[in-house]
Amino acid sequence: MLDQIRIILVGTSHTGNIGSVARAMKTMGLSQLYLVAPKTLPDGQAYALSAGASDVLANAKVFDTLEQAIADCPLVIAVSARERTLGWPMLNPRQAGELCVQEAPGHPVALVFGREKSCLTNEELQLCNRQVSIPGNPDYSSLNLAMAVQVLSYEVRMAYLATAQQPQPVSEVAYPSSAQMESFYRHLEATLNDTGFIIKQHPGVVMTKLKRLFTRARPEETEYNILRGILTSVQRYGQKTAGDKE
Ligand code: SAH
Repeated sequence: MLDQIRIILVGTSHTGNIGSVARAMKTMGLSQLYLVAPKTLPDGQAYALSAGASDVLANAKVFDTLEQAIADCPLVIAVSARERTLGWPMLNPRQAGELCVQEAPGHPVALVFGREKSCLTNEELQLCNRQVSIPGNPDYSSLNLAMAVQVLSYEVRMAYLATAQQPQPVSEVAYPSSAQMESFYRHLEATLNDTGFIIKQHPGVVMTKLKRLFTRARPEETEYNILRGILTSVQRYGQKTAGDKE
């Protein structure tokens, strides 16, 4: 089950941090390390700092974009200290650990960590279902990357140990993957362009607001299929009425 939980590092600058992350993960029983566009691939410095966790580093998968690294994930949690005007649904680390452990028996889940200097972009954050922030000292709340990974990995481990002692019923609910949701948003935007609700030259913040709404609601797979069906019916209706006018 812990193998379904992946730690994703986006745009890491220092390879030493990647090594320390591998070590932090292995101490808590995690092994799936995904690197998105790292400045440098794991080198001697990374292996030195990974100590006995060189296997985690050696098995790390590398991707060009976050979208690719999470395509098959129905649950993606952004780990970010930053306050956002976007207002993405928030969790604390304990809740994040519990949610990962609750869902990992059914599908892969991802914890996404940002760059040392600039964390995650708004676009990257919008690919995530939830955001988790470590509630540190308000005057000095930015942890080193590997230490942030350690905190979240520890919470995952605690939640895992708690369920090992008291097995919970496995959730039967299926959720669409990240790739499905991105495809839904493209479909929604195309439909709203067709109906004239979104003006192509002035898209404004409509899509961001709608993404936030669907992120908050988190549609199940059956609800997702209904939404796709509605969009297709609207597009067909538009084509039919356009045809009738000709
Ligand atoms: N200077 C950056 C912080 C980068 S720290 C900023 O102010 O945004 C590197 C990464 O560690 C962050 O992208 C985030 O994923 C994680 N991190 C550090 N401190 C954190 C905190 N208090 N809460 C959640 N994540 C944190």
